[in-house]
Amino acid sequence: MEKRPFSELGISPEILKAVDKMGFEEASPIQTAVIPFALAGRDVVGQSATGSGKTAAFAIPAIEKVDPRLRKVQVLVLCPTRELAVQVSEEFGKLAFFKKGVMEVPIYGGQSYERQFRALAAGAQVVIGTPGRVMDHMERGTLQLDALKVIILDEADRMLDMGFRDDIEHILKSVPAQRQCLFFSATMPRMIQELIKRYTREPEWIRIESLAQNAPQVEQIYFEVDRRSKIELLTRLIDLHDFRFGIVFCSTKIMVDELDDHLHARGYSTDRLHGDITQATRTRVMDKFRRRGFEFLIATDVAARGLDVDDLEVVFNFDLPNDAEDYTHRIGRTGRAGKKGMAFTFVAGRELYKMQNMIHYGRIKIRRERVPSLDEVEEAKGNVFFEKLKATLDAKKFRSHDQMIDRLLEQGYTSTDIASALIHLTQGDATEPVKPPTKPKAERVAANENYTPAPAAGPAPAAPVVRRAPVVSAAPVGSVERKPLPPAPKSGDKFAAQKRTYERKARTGHEPGFTPVAFNIGRQHLVTPADLVGKIAGVTRLPASIVGAIDIHEEHTHIDVADEHVAAVVAKLAGIRVKNQSLKVTVVPPGAA
Ligand code: ADP
Ligand code: MG
Repeated sequence: MEKRPFSELGISPEILKAVDKMGFEEASPIQTAVIPFALAGRDVVGQSATGSGKTAAFAIPAIEKVDPRLRKVQVLVLCPTRELAVQVSEEFGKLAFFKKGVMEVPIYGGQSYERQFRALAAGAQVVIGTPGRVMDHMERGTLQLDALKVIILDEADRMLDMGFRDDIEHILKSVPAQRQCLFFSATMPRMIQELIKRYTREPEWIRIESLAQNAPQVEQIYFEVDRRSKIELLTRLIDLHDFRFGIVFCSTKIMVDELDDHLHARGYSTDRLHGDITQATRTRVMDKFRRRGFEFLIATDVAARGLDVDDLEVVFNFDLPNDAEDYTHRIGRTGRAGKKGMAFTFVAGRELYKMQNMIHYGRIKIRRERVPSLDEVEEAKGNVFFEKLKATLDAKKFRSHDQMIDRLLEQGYTSTDIASALIHLTQGDATEPVKPPTKPKAERVAANENYTPAPAAGPAPAAPVVRRAPVVSAAPVGSVERKPLPPAPKSGDKFAAQKRTYERKARTGHEPGFTPVAFNIGRQHLVTPADLVGKIAGVTRLPASIVGAIDIHEEHTHIDVADEHVAAVVAKLAGIRVKNQSLKVTVVPPGAA
């Protein structure tokens, strides 16, 4: 982004003096780009972020165009609000400080017409106003625009959002055809483009990319994906690239809750932020995330706004952002400080239309990719592991285990076999539990007060769906000796005992092989069998056939669950939200069903 001294832009000595007095050392990029064209009489369309200095970019050339001896309105600036009109007027005042005879006046609703009329009658050459009030003055004949040379639309996008389109068009149609037109807007939605096309002549388009948009370090990819497949795609991408630090943006609080529950249940280290979470908890979650206390933050735009983390490996747009601006904001948190970042955007159904609009009008540089297959994920995981293993060997960053290896060699195993067995243990098998949920439930409870603790079950046994390989680089190779958690609850475990007691009973009454489990949700919560079976299958990733009879009562529901999956269902469903209810899940004591 180019910046130049004001002295090189062809500005008069009076304004150079004013700029110096204001303490501006050099022209900002938008000023550097806009001022020479505007001074040359060209129409200009300027697009740059808030705070980039757009006001002086149009005010300086506008002041230069004013003939101080002519006491008629020569410059008209349209602004969305009275505050902005006053602010822009003040900036004109400062910039024109050494220009003798140049007067500016803000006109806006809420102030008496009388006062504004007097200023206009006194011969102000620059009028800064809101569209409604400008129209009023035009209709009353107190604002005459026959000598107008320059018309400026500041924050055009906001003015349209506020419903000023008709007023703006009316004003643009009533001013002399030979005027110069300067258009400024932070974004360029279709309506603005139409106005520009209709009311400017061969405008010079100037767009100063904001820091985030400019970040060439962010690789931007989108996927067209079925709404229901988004979670699967997300976990595939995380596994494929072996990401360890990122944000997943969702559009609603409900989606944040659901996704966090799902990911957590699948063994990913996550936490959540959204508007319903208390400030104290939010602060705690943010601190923890900054310290990398967990890997993925699931958040809404609003909740993530106060988070000053910008060295993320990846940003996921699980739901499409509202517009190009939000998109840019979100992805700007990755790819900083010379590091490469990635941004993945999920586009479902009709969102594709919105995505294409964003690409076109927001000039987003994003490419489409197809959803990676499971095989590709597995292969990539192998590659990631290979690289890590190699890096560990090259860096000699491991303790020596000669003794153990010698013992194995002595017993006749080859070094290749030993290494293969270790890789097998470390990598796990896709069908084998290799990693317990990264964070015990109890800790999540502490971090999140609207989480209902699970029943006394304690940390869940690993479900057979946990697919992430353990972090190799984070621990010495010796740690691979750690055994995966057993898939079934230990004997002596509270609900295992309960279950055993029940089984004895069940053999005499219930369908064999199934155990009734109680959920604290029932008819009064408008729950349907499909809701519950869907939730169970979704969270445990087990087939729906593990669920037997379902008995919905007023306040609770009994569901028969295949014996070998009772533990997983109890542990994983606890605390999950269904119908806005935080689930409590318990094995039904024998005789109570
Ligand atoms: P925008 O309209 O693009 O949001 P503003 O025109 O309101 O930005 O400018 C933002 C702030 O930067 C103002 O306080 C302004 O005085 C200041 N500013 C503008 N140009 C310069 C410059 N060249 N050097 C230093 N500060 C500047
Ligand atoms: Mg501005």
